[in-house]
Amino acid sequence: RSGRQVQLGIHVRRGDEDKVDHAMACLKRAMRWDEEAFGLEYDLDIFNIAAVSDFNMGAMENKGLNIFNTALVLARPDTATDADYQRIDRVIAHEYFHNWTGDRVTCRDWFQLSLKEGLTVFRDQEYGAATTDAALSRIDDVKMLRARQFAEDAGPLAHPVRPAAYRKIDNFYTATVYEKGAEVVRMIRTIIGHEAFRRGFDRYIARNDNSAATIEDFVAAMREESGFDFSQFMRWYEQAGTPQLRFEGEYDAAARRYTLTLRQMTAPTPGQAHKEPFLIPVAMGLIGPDGAELEARLEGEADAHRGTRVLLLRAAEQRFVFEEVAAPPVPSLLRGFSAPVKLSGHDAAGLAHLAAHDTDGFSRWEAGQEYATRALLDAIAALQRGEAVATDPALVAAMAAALDLAQEAPALAARILSLPGKDVLADRMAVIDPDAIHEALETTRAAIGRSLRDRFTALCGAEDPSAPFSLDPASMGRRALGNVALAYLMAADPAAGLDAAQRRFETAPTMTGRLGALALLADTATPARDAALAAFHARWRGDALVSDKWFRIQAMAAAPDTLDRVEALTRHADFDLRNPNRFRALVQAFGAGNQRWFHDASGRGYALVARMIGEVDRVNRQIAARCIDVFASWQRFDPARQMLMRGALDALLADPALSANAREMAERARAGS
Ligand code: ASP
Ligand code: ZN
Repeated sequence: RSGRQVQLGIHVRRGDEDKVDHAMACLKRAMRWDEEAFGLEYDLDIFNIAAVSDFNMGAMENKGLNIFNTALVLARPDTATDADYQRIDRVIAHEYFHNWTGDRVTCRDWFQLSLKEGLTVFRDQEYGAATTDAALSRIDDVKMLRARQFAEDAGPLAHPVRPAAYRKIDNFYTATVYEKGAEVVRMIRTIIGHEAFRRGFDRYIARNDNSAATIEDFVAAMREESGFDFSQFMRWYEQAGTPQLRFEGEYDAAARRYTLTLRQMTAPTPGQAHKEPFLIPVAMGLIGPDGAELEARLEGEADAHRGTRVLLLRAAEQRFVFEEVAAPPVPSLLRGFSAPVKLSGHDAAGLAHLAAHDTDGFSRWEAGQEYATRALLDAIAALQRGEAVATDPALVAAMAAALDLAQEAPALAARILSLPGKDVLADRMAVIDPDAIHEALETTRAAIGRSLRDRFTALCGAEDPSAPFSLDPASMGRRALGNVALAYLMAADPAAGLDAAQRRFETAPTMTGRLGALALLADTATPARDAALAAFHARWRGDALVSDKWFRIQAMAAAPDTLDRVEALTRHADFDLRNPNRFRALVQAFGAGNQRWFHDASGRGYALVARMIGEVDRVNRQIAARCIDVFASWQRFDPARQMLMRGALDALLADPALSANAREMAERARAGS
């Protein structure tokens, strides 16, 4: 912006020079965006990135010389998936943004970690939304938050965004400090608006430049520019746990009045038995019976208007009265996911209405996912009663409607067609039943696949080998859709699906298509799987990052022989527990990503992971400590699994040589919540 020349460098091993173009393009885009969106220019005339293959974190923002894990730099269409490309973009931007939020303004002490991490994640999310597709990128960020942070906040490792105590700060590089921290910053902006937020941000930087700041300094700058009193809001930094938000609506046709009652409740977390109400910004609108947004006048407003407004819920229970409402509305609440809470209160008809008509893209997707989640929870309950699963015809119809979007909005179609993950379903169950979750998903996928079989068949061969490689949302969307369609086809018709998967594996021009097919093949105990895995290994064993994918896919497989195979892979010549990426690809991926086999009733999965944690602890205590969280959910399972999971933690704790890092995590996980 000022005309300063900056020399940019990315340093990689000889041989990897052809895999840095994407990272360099991302770096330039991030530098430009920070000037435009936040008025922040780079302050030196040199900026370097060094990529290393053995690194515990994703990257580190050392001033002027960012250190990166190779996994977050190197990409070529035949070696990296679209998800890898997107992750690289976000992390390159994240570390670059730390130059101001982290380096020029740093943290006074480690309790303030979220001051730089929550804020910088927020900034990289905003960058992602502005440079790709805002609704899609919000969907992906919220999915991640729910999968990782909500689980953390619901168990014994729950801690506030600003932890009150720690033994090893290494153990607090968590989804709560990072992702929930970013949501807290986002709520501040939602409450005071974009303009006041930007002025507050400028004031924060100007005031604290070249010094070490606190979360209070950040919030004070926001208060001074907006006049808003954040005292109650500060509870988001001090109280752990995900609030439950419940609503009730009542329409009085004669008075044309709609009364919305909101209630919040937050369960106790370790060390915090009692919670005070949070200040929750609820971005919302009212959708009429015809699907159009309704006009309304909220008590205190001068005129009626339609569109999104932000309600501030302060009390445990609060009523909001809307006048001049012409028809009974379905409320669209938490638009854009305006607060990190769990919402309930919609009936199935309301969800279906929002999924079809909400004017907010995120909320349309959200309503569809919630509808599917409930259908799957019903299926799980039926299986547990020993009954057959009847797939809801409305769910099939919603998936057919999503397929209608395949041409014009393939990325959104792929996200709508992706059934809720096992973690989402587990989160909603009083006692997690991994076998029923797996079966309900498979049965439902097969039923949808059979109903829409021809349309899925047409989509799974869709990658055109002659088309130039592109990362625009539509191209990535088509690749994602191809993989989702293949999953439905395999569930509906295993023989035809296997053929299609082999074809996609052999002919797809990108790693996204090839790996998508390989992951589905890996779920089957078939000669086709063995042949594909062998071919992939032979082709890529010299490339560490692609070999990680080979390990990860097998670690996450649903195939019945998975436990034996993962055991064998821990002794494979290419497995090396001194390499953090390789350990994560096999052990962490298995523990965190293979709900079915990690939680096998025999306890073999638990024993395997506990043994590997013990081994890796001798060479890398940070990695060992981080992996322990796979046992933290033990209270959510049946008594037999609980005993086995606690036993695994006890076995670790019984080792006198266990590192302080791993001990802190094992003790916290063992203590329960
Ligand atoms: N500060 C780094 C980051 O969030 C992580 C680390 O400390 O290595 O990007
Ligand atoms: Zn960071």
